[in-house]
Amino acid sequence: MKKTLTLAILTFAAIGTILGITNSLRNEESIKAQIMQNTDDISTIPVKDLSITVCFDNNPYEKKLKTSWGFSCLIRGTEKTILFDTGGDGSILSANMETLGIDPEEIDLIVLSHIHGDHVGGLNSFLEKNPEVVIYMPESFPNGFKDKVKEFGSEVIEVQEPVKICKGVYSTGELGTYIIEQSLFLNTERGLIVVTGCAHPGIVKIVNKAKDIINNDVLLVIGGFHLSGNSKGEIKNIISGFRNLGVCYACPTHCSGDMARQLFKEEYGENYINVGVGKVITVDSL
Ligand SMILES: [Zn+2]
Ligand SMILES: [Zn+2]
Repeated sequence: MKKTLTLAILTFAAIGTILGITNSLRNEESIKAQIMQNTDDISTIPVKDLSITVCFDNNPYEKKLKTSWGFSCLIRGTEKTILFDTGGDGSILSANMETLGIDPEEIDLIVLSHIHGDHVGGLNSFLEKNPEVVIYMPESFPNGFKDKVKEFGSEVIEVQEPVKICKGVYSTGELGTYIIEQSLFLNTERGLIVVTGCAHPGIVKIVNKAKDIINNDVLLVIGGFHLSGNSKGEIKNIISGFRNLGVCYACPTHCSGDMARQLFKEEYGENYINVGVGKVITVDSL
């Protein structure tokens, strides 16, 4: 079973690499076309058992858990159980996971958004508990980082272009220039769910990219929106961007900043979800 899985993932990685090479000669439109061409690549995830659990965040939510700068969340109910980012500190990540009843061994895949320590800092201590994972990371990550992960025996998949990760789960591919970042998105029966690390390339740009790859309504966006240094006017523009894209639920956390969280709350009302460490979003209940 594990072999078949590895083979399937390798095949996708190979397809991703080929797409990457051919893409250098093509425009954005044709990337979409290639991804959409294969109907097998655009499956829809039922929301019945779908949940997102925030296991690392600097924003508090569940009092029993420790807060610390960074972000990590667990996605259950997809074909593979996915840990998105690993927070900034392995011992805090482990302690929070334990309190939340998350067994490291239930995790099949890790997706790393970008190289900043508050997103990859908990990785090594996680791999000490479960190295049997496939790790999707931006191709631009330093070789030393990739080698270290391989030493644990984990499988590394380098992401450059948008790629399917498992049934109904995709990466936007590498975005941004100065700080390269990938975001994760899920194509559910209720619409897209976009998960971001720090959103350095721009939160609206990321959501736009996800929608470009799979044209569906956007059910929710969760993660760091990276707006703590932005003015009120700039944040309001971002919120209009969300409205224009039809984002139904906004869940800004981590580096989103207090002002952005407040403004999103005012604009989104009941559809603003207060996220912090320990928050569990059960998609079916939205
Ligand atoms: Zn960052
Ligand atoms: Zn961050």
